[in-house]
Amino acid sequence: MISRKDKLLGGMWGLLVGDAAGVPYEFHSDDEIALLDYIDIIPPKNFERSHNSVKAGTWSDDGAQALCLLDSLIYCGKLELQDFAERLLKWYEEGYFAVDENVFDVGIQTAESLRAFRNGMSPEKSGMIRINGKGNGSLMRVLPLALWHKGSDEELVEDAHKQSLVTHGHTCNQVCCAIYCLLSRKILNGLDISEGYAEAVKSLRNIYSKYPKFEEELEWSIRPDENAVGHGDGYVVDCLRSAIMVLKENDTYEKVIKAAISLGNDTDTTAAVAGGIAGIKYGVQSIPQKWMKIMRGKDLVEDVFEKLIK
Ligand SMILES: [Mg+2]
Repeated sequence: MISRKDKLLGGMWGLLVGDAAGVPYEFHSDDEIALLDYIDIIPPKNFERSHNSVKAGTWSDDGAQALCLLDSLIYCGKLELQDFAERLLKWYEEGYFAVDENVFDVGIQTAESLRAFRNGMSPEKSGMIRINGKGNGSLMRVLPLALWHKGSDEELVEDAHKQSLVTHGHTCNQVCCAIYCLLSRKILNGLDISEGYAEAVKSLRNIYSKYPKFEEELEWSIRPDENAVGHGDGYVVDCLRSAIMVLKENDTYEKVIKAAISLGNDTDTTAAVAGGIAGIKYGVQSIPQKWMKIMRGKDLVEDVFEKLIK
């Protein structure tokens, strides 16, 4: 039996470790990764690492932004978009919650949106700077909302939508964040991945029966009845599908992360998105000790994690 505390810590560490494990493999194709002898948090010696100057065990933008969200939720006691956007901007400009205050791997749309926010645009609107922007930048950081939230499914969905607005305002991004939060909640409550996904979709359909624009996006872009097949891309729907696919096909935290990375492309984000849920499901103890040992920035998260599990 995995305690709730171990599931919550598993979610947060699962995201951070997945992100860090994926960083060196980012931008490589699945063909290139398939040639490797093994995938690990430290890549094989002959492998041409992305972000070469970044030490193993360092989370990237995914982890830092998720920590900004958790920090803001705990500080405000609710989702306060202005506060959250300020923390994201502080990450972007000063390296808040970035290991060594080193900001790398910033998404184009995220950078544009945060600059617009800095220049006076409201955080409800800044994510529409690219009207059709459908990158995975708000999905990759949303997990803490599901871990922290005490409200109804409908309230969780509303907040999942809202947190996306700062950088990714399109309905498609909002729906992906909503479904991911509901799935995380179902896993936290003990369901397995397939059951949890079915229950999340059922709950979301029920909520969206009042919101045709969101319902249409769910049915036509996400297509929850189709078997999830993903390619580890930066497109938000592909990212969600990739995560669900590797979560369904693998039965340990380590296998989920390796499968996510083996898809290639946006490896750190796929591994962060899948890793968060794998961490909830299998608990913090399931994360390989040798990976936890390598993780950097532990002092940055101690306080905020303590408050999450309190
Ligand atoms: Mg990243």
